[in-house]
Amino acid sequence: MTATNLPRRIVIAGGGTAGWMTAAALARTLGPVAQVTLVESEQIGTIGVGESTIPPLVAYNRILGINEADFMRATQATFKLGINFENWRVPGEAYFHSFGGTGKDHWSAGFQHFWMNGLTRGHTAPYSEYCLELKAAEAGRFAHLPEDRMNYAYQLDSGLYARFLRGMAEADGTKRIEGKIAQVQLDGETGNIAALLLESGKRIEGDLFIDCTGFRALLIEGALRVGYDDWTHWLPCDSAIAIQTASVRPPVPYTRAIAHEAGWQWRIPLQHRQGNGVVYCSDFLGHDVALEKLLSSVEGEKLVKPNHIRFRTGARRKQWHRNCVAVGLSGGFMEPLESTSIHLIQRAILRIVRMLPAGAISQRDIDEFNDQQFTDMEQIRDFLVLHYKVTDRRDTPFWRHVSAMDVPESLTHKIELFRETGRVFRKNEELFAENSWVQVMMGQGIMPQSHHPVAAKLRDEEMAHLFGTLRDQVARTVAALPVHGDYVVRYCGADVPVAA
Ligand code: FAD
Repeated sequence: MTATNLPRRIVIAGGGTAGWMTAAALARTLGPVAQVTLVESEQIGTIGVGESTIPPLVAYNRILGINEADFMRATQATFKLGINFENWRVPGEAYFHSFGGTGKDHWSAGFQHFWMNGLTRGHTAPYSEYCLELKAAEAGRFAHLPEDRMNYAYQLDSGLYARFLRGMAEADGTKRIEGKIAQVQLDGETGNIAALLLESGKRIEGDLFIDCTGFRALLIEGALRVGYDDWTHWLPCDSAIAIQTASVRPPVPYTRAIAHEAGWQWRIPLQHRQGNGVVYCSDFLGHDVALEKLLSSVEGEKLVKPNHIRFRTGARRKQWHRNCVAVGLSGGFMEPLESTSIHLIQRAILRIVRMLPAGAISQRDIDEFNDQQFTDMEQIRDFLVLHYKVTDRRDTPFWRHVSAMDVPESLTHKIELFRETGRVFRKNEELFAENSWVQVMMGQGIMPQSHHPVAAKLRDEEMAHLFGTLRDQVARTVAALPVHGDYVVRYCGADVPVAA
């Protein structure tokens, strides 16, 4: 530590999405208060996936003063209104998890209660008819609306994203060092990390170290050995193969998650190309079959060789230990089903900034950070497990296995509460709001046995008027929206031709 004990020298190990997101945010927020150094190895490279995001990234970019159109142009990004889940409840059916609210909630009860009551009175329009983002996605339309009335996120090129952030971080004073970390040196007295020793012999000292070395977790695990909570018994997929293809049609404003016999496939449309991948559980599907499944289903010219990635779902037991914080894949991974990894990076960074020590690092800050970050991860884990556990699929050994598995008690409670009463409660700063849980639980096949009595209060004509008005507003707003692909070209077109 320096004389004032301020962690002035912040060293970021790793330059993937996590590393450069951290560098950009710290350099911009702290300015000259801290010297941010990032070390990365081009020879090792990055994981090369991570292209679908969720709405809080919009706010994150605004905090950092990033111009949205510039950012989207630089990352070949498109807008995302949610995820289309295909074949999850049963093969051949789909439901949409949108980023928006549905209908109109009452303070005492969410809209699903009124919708369920409406079913008993002959209002048979699907729940989805009342959601603007969902209907806009179905229609392939998008525009920014006044007062941010449309919730959205981005689908972006992860390599270009890291490059964009690097430009920003370096302009704000981050020092980048190219090199391979050969050794993490600990202080013999405190047990803190003292320095990173590169293969070149260069030694990088620091006060605070951010481990962004991806699955390698060189600092937090390699040197500090904090341990890993393995969640593969709840999230058994352990492999993915990714490939990029040329676009064959204008991009849709949503990501597709298509279940198959032992996992699922993603399709992420960007401006210039499409990201595709297959996620699977190797106990139930071989690599060659998974690869064939991917290659035979993609459209458009293949632009790169398939990238095979193995992972173990779970979380590092401590996200912050001594003077080291894990950000990104070094902290854990829960598979990309709801595009939550970049968001966890974002949350960790905001927490680091909020809890930046004024003097010596406080164990209370560390405990608070770990508690908050771990709570996020557990809540996201439960939401992901829901997609596998609640399904009518029994057609393959994988689906029979996941539908029969034990799940965390916290998830059982949430499922059963919804099944019995239609209620969902959001705890702490839980990422997924009531409407997310409702859409996925109903989409996966849970129809609540009862609903809140307050819904019965609406007289028939009031209900007919409310439902009619809500549907009408959605339909009229969607009809006035431009086609998503056209809007993207006008707003942030990256000048790369996309086949019409
Ligand atoms: P990496 O990209 O692996 O970066 C690690 C860095 O550390 C690299 O720069 C590397 O060079 C460096 N490094 C490692 N060892 C050394 C060393 N010895 N010396 C020097 N440098 C070193 N997230 C989403 O939000 N949305 C998605 O749609 C999504 N899809 C995904 C799909 C799959 C199949 C997987 C596996 C992940 C997905 N993710 C997704 C997660 C997302 O890819 C990551 O959260 C994100 O890319 C951050 O990765 P990272 O920076 O932690 O690690």
